[in-house]
Amino acid sequence: MTATHCPYCALQCGMSVSPELRIEPREDVPANRGGLCQKGWSAADLLTVPGRLTSPLMRASRDSPLEPCSWDEALDAVAARIRSLQAGHGPDAIGVFGGGGLTNEKAYQLGKFARIALRTSQIDYNGRFCMSSAAGALNRAFGLDRGLPGPITDVARADVILMVGGNVAETMPPFMRHVTEQKEAGGALIVADPRRTPTARQADLHLQLTPGTDLALANGLLHLAMTEGLLDEEYIAARTTGFDALRTSLNGYWPERVERITGVPVAQMRECVRMLSAGERSLILTARGAEQQAQGVDTVTAFINLALGLGLPGTEGSGYGCITGQGNGQGGREHGQKADQLPGYRKIDDPAARAHVAGVWGVDPETLPGAGRSAYELLAALGTEEGPKGLLLFGSNPVVSAPRARHVTERLDALDLLVVADFVLSETAERADIVLPTAQWAEESGTMTNLEGRVLLRNQAVEPPEGVRTDLEIIEGLAARLEAPGVWSTVPPEVFDELRRASGGGIADYAGITYERIEKEGGVFWPCPDEEHPGTPRPFLDRFATPDGRARFVPVEHRGPAERPDADYPLYLTTGRLLAHYQSGAQTRRVASLVAAAPEPFLELHPDLAERSGIEDGALVEVSTRRGTNVVKARLTDAIRPDTVFLPFHWKGTNDLTNPALDPISRMPEFKVCAVRITAKAG
Ligand code: SF4
Repeated sequence: MTATHCPYCALQCGMSVSPELRIEPREDVPANRGGLCQKGWSAADLLTVPGRLTSPLMRASRDSPLEPCSWDEALDAVAARIRSLQAGHGPDAIGVFGGGGLTNEKAYQLGKFARIALRTSQIDYNGRFCMSSAAGALNRAFGLDRGLPGPITDVARADVILMVGGNVAETMPPFMRHVTEQKEAGGALIVADPRRTPTARQADLHLQLTPGTDLALANGLLHLAMTEGLLDEEYIAARTTGFDALRTSLNGYWPERVERITGVPVAQMRECVRMLSAGERSLILTARGAEQQAQGVDTVTAFINLALGLGLPGTEGSGYGCITGQGNGQGGREHGQKADQLPGYRKIDDPAARAHVAGVWGVDPETLPGAGRSAYELLAALGTEEGPKGLLLFGSNPVVSAPRARHVTERLDALDLLVVADFVLSETAERADIVLPTAQWAEESGTMTNLEGRVLLRNQAVEPPEGVRTDLEIIEGLAARLEAPGVWSTVPPEVFDELRRASGGGIADYAGITYERIEKEGGVFWPCPDEEHPGTPRPFLDRFATPDGRARFVPVEHRGPAERPDADYPLYLTTGRLLAHYQSGAQTRRVASLVAAAPEPFLELHPDLAERSGIEDGALVEVSTRRGTNVVKARLTDAIRPDTVFLPFHWKGTNDLTNPALDPISRMPEFKVCAVRITAKAG
């Protein structure tokens, strides 16, 4: 058996894989301790899904079908067309779009490839759609963006957990083992969510708020803590700055007004804040429900303000944390895939950062491009006069997963060159000019950084099928053809050694982490500046990562969603995940057992709303927003607010409806709330 980790979410459950592709959960990995969800149990099926690509595909012309070709033909054609487009339009004529599921080595190499092989500024990745709002808020308040404040086993030590916009019982079930342990030890769980999700059903208190009002709720809770004398004044004086300005800004968030905005009764808010302040340790966690909003950074900031006001961060089992979604959502943003960052979480416009990274890459810092467009802005600019004319896409499926996806699809179709590296013909790969078949997960080694900030090793368990290449091999093949400077190893530990040097001295410092240490120690927490350093499981115990070591209170105001219900679109639409599927479904919709568990999308709506709208359970419904219409079957449940409907986003169509309004800091689109109309489908 080969010890490795799950191909899917950020929990990165430990599993062992036999040569015959039998899966066994690992007991020695704290995240899952012998548990797996149904996606993990069926992970081996991914390697043999029907339609697995084993040869590059290319079109003779835009209207021709994709036909098999050799690797040399495919890579020669990609390189020639890149050269031609850049000769005509400059380096930014080519864009690169990466993914939060790529290993650290791939994320690093892709960022380097964009900057020194293509010399383009136009690179970003789908992680921008995942955790960027929490990242922005964490940086602003603590000076460091790392998901959970400590090892996942600390969750069980919290007296009270407040989970906002997170549904771990469905998205990452083994996480609930830690919550169950916490509850069995006498702890309590509070969930804030517009739906009574499987997680909310296990909560001691469920705050069923109106979509897009999370920020007002957080400010209201802090206002209540203030007026009821529940603030930790000693902590505020010792470990924070900026509370006086915040105190004034909270004046408008008196309980009755917050109840009107959020729909959460004052009594529930009061109970929530009393519970949070009663114990020695409380943990406030946010996930996409709070973060995927056009005021996502401010929303997370409001919950961090609440945590700081109650004196929570800086104690084991206490504080604020973000529940990362994608498998390498954390590591994927640390090594240079982001439009504005270089490896080590360095700012791309920082001269010292540019000099350091250019030194590792063996190039002149003056030749490095500056910051490019964020993910949605990059996709929306494709094929326009000013935007890229060609796109290389790794580990992403924006035809399903981007907001306002139909528009993004039109932009992809307007390109002169679309190259997709994937293991199957995803909805995006189907539209490509050239498709490069990739090895996946158990067929190659690499490191992943999980939701704890722990760097883990995914070991190769089996050989990839003949005809496919790893992403590192594809990047090397293109770099060689483009006569890129520097070294382009295809061996993961060698790439990791270079990544360690590039990250050294940066915020996300991996310099002291080696494959050997990860194996021996069961993972190493960053920052870890040298091989003698033990790693940093809890980064805020003594000080925060700000210049003066204090956390920052930042006043934030409720603005509400960019689009609110009105006469034409009278309801809220929110979206989310199901137990059986992952992200765009490109992987899980090909696994038979997962398809059997959740075969198709549906619209979840309250029976009262269904009756008012003349919609029966199981009947077809037209779901329309200002961006498009989707037709799905109705599923009636009283677990959702009567003013809100829910669509899972694993199928094409859901994101045709979502709103690309962007957060001004993180550039996160507002996936989680927009205005919608539903009508029974005639006939
Ligand atoms: Fe895989 Fe996440 Fe399920 Fe664990 S919870 S088995 S990491 S999908």
